[in-house]
Amino acid sequence: MAPALTRAAGDADLVVVGAGAGGMTAALVAAHAGLRVVLCESTQQAGGTTATSAGTLWIPGNRHGRVAGHVDSVDDAARYLKLLAGADDARGRRRAFLATGDEAVAWLEANSQVAFTSSGVHPDYLVQPGASYAGRALSPLPYDGRKLGADFVRIRPPIPEFMVLGGMMVGKADIQALLRRWSSTRAFSHSARLVLRYLADRLRYSRGTRLVMGNALVARLFASVRDSGVDVRFGWRLLELMHEGGRVTGAVFDTESGVQRISASRGVVLATGGVGHDVDLRSELLPAHWDIATLACASVVGDGISSARRAGAVLERHPHGNFFWQPVSRVAREGGDVGLFPHLFLDRAKPGLIAVDALGRRFVNEAASYHHFVEGLLANGQRAWLVCDAAFVERYGLGVIPPGTKRLERWIASGYVTVDGSLTALSRRLGIDADGFAATIADTNRDACIGFDVAFRKGEAPLDRFNGDASHGPNPCLGVIAHAPFLALAILPADAASSAGLATDADGRVLDDTGQSLAGLYACGNDAASVMCGTYPGPGTTLGPAIVFGYRVGRHAVRGAAPSPHPTFSA
Ligand SMILES: Cc1cc2nc3c(=O)[nH]c(=O)nc-3n(C[C@H](O)[C@H](O)[C@H](O)COP(=O)(O)OP(=O)(O)OC[C@H]3O[C@@H](n4cnc5c(N)ncnc54)[C@H](O)[C@@H]3O)c2cc1C
Repeated sequence: MAPALTRAAGDADLVVVGAGAGGMTAALVAAHAGLRVVLCESTQQAGGTTATSAGTLWIPGNRHGRVAGHVDSVDDAARYLKLLAGADDARGRRRAFLATGDEAVAWLEANSQVAFTSSGVHPDYLVQPGASYAGRALSPLPYDGRKLGADFVRIRPPIPEFMVLGGMMVGKADIQALLRRWSSTRAFSHSARLVLRYLADRLRYSRGTRLVMGNALVARLFASVRDSGVDVRFGWRLLELMHEGGRVTGAVFDTESGVQRISASRGVVLATGGVGHDVDLRSELLPAHWDIATLACASVVGDGISSARRAGAVLERHPHGNFFWQPVSRVAREGGDVGLFPHLFLDRAKPGLIAVDALGRRFVNEAASYHHFVEGLLANGQRAWLVCDAAFVERYGLGVIPPGTKRLERWIASGYVTVDGSLTALSRRLGIDADGFAATIADTNRDACIGFDVAFRKGEAPLDRFNGDASHGPNPCLGVIAHAPFLALAILPADAASSAGLATDADGRVLDDTGQSLAGLYACGNDAASVMCGTYPGPGTTLGPAIVFGYRVGRHAVRGAAPSPHPTFSA
């Protein structure tokens, strides 16, 4: 029941909680079919962690990959996922995800401002039958934030380290153009266009309005939500679910004008971003001695999961892991804050960099995906450093230090990196075992010359080579570390998303501990347990399902209590 002293704030057909990828998709689908949708967001901006993400979606067999000529199928993806995560569960969630992925993309593109392009070559993260090399990942098309008018400020910005010149977003292609701006006319004119547009933007806006990656996805979803007449309420934080007669009938919110409740005839959709910063949930899901930071948006605090559990929902955990990982370095920000910079693809796979532990040993293939790199880090203790020389940094950059950097004083002074003229002295300053470190460097330099990484076979997997340096031989990921000065950068594990979450069925209906759905309660995005069960198949592992299950939730709410048509694809 609703707590006393709450004010009724009207009713709706569907109340959606959380304006990230999952919530906005569900809201959009329901509103398009004519439901009265209220979307409640605890902060003053839309986007959550989605806004700070790369925005990639893993959608096997998608139309854009097909049009671009890439060969892929949901059957191949099903085979691959079975090898990673075992058989699908009895609820058929994986089958539903695979069967509906392309349909969800097609629906969004036909009915909203959301638009994607094939990410092209973007290998899956593990080498197994059914893995894809190209075409399985989608990227949102860049979006012109000026189209939002005054609502541009409603889009949560990316982390400062993902912007250049103090506010200009750059995607992967932009980074390449900016780095090569003096070496081709095309790169120069692309870079010049970016910078001129940005300078013009700054006369009127607090940051650049050319949005890419997760920010483009959020802006496209938010513009569409607005177009479709969804009633968006910023500053409304979910406190509790209302239930009556075994059914969730609405939700109670903390708002600027007091505690308010909204009733919802078709139900409530929880899409508050998963575990995030919730201390209690983290201690329930992480081993006791693990002290791990999160990259989740600060407003993601486990509210959806906790409120549903209080209403009888069950938390699903995963044997392969309850979180999705990214390695980060700590960076001092203006004003004294410390930021976490995710090492996704720019530095780890490049030739001439290794990661070592306190014994001076390597512990993982540095070119593995960010998730699998951190799995190696966690299996080996949590202290580690990326090590390279200054020539590497000048060529490829290291963390937040951009390529082309010759002078390292600023980064040394802020404590971001430790630099020394001798490898032995560097290891002693950091408390790394000097003998172990010397032996590792000798092995690294030997392997780089022959082009074969004896310990971890770095450079063999398609993903390694994709993120390596194709112009470097004999192995695009192996280089010597031989010329002073040498650098070390402390690297830490962090989670980017949770895999554990509310148990749901194939339409996102939340389940209780008997496996029955709680009438009127849905979850999508990271509030729902991941269909990948803690495995990390490839780029877009959380946003792909967030969009697909957001779509399925919206459709189910529109159908009401009618039974789901069975997915046509059988895995
Ligand atoms: C650097 C980085 C890069 C990433 N890149 C990718 C990628 O390319 N592809 C991919 O698949 N994944 C990526 N991820 C992970 C991905 O961003 C998240 O898994 C995804 O955005 C989660 O979406 P969501 O809709 O569940 O939640 P969110 O986008 O976090 O949205 C949740 C919303 O709910 C709101 N909220 C929270 N509590 C309440 C409450 N009580 N009441 C009302 N509202 C509330 C929040 O403020 C937020 O706006 C990345 C993550 C990071 C950190």
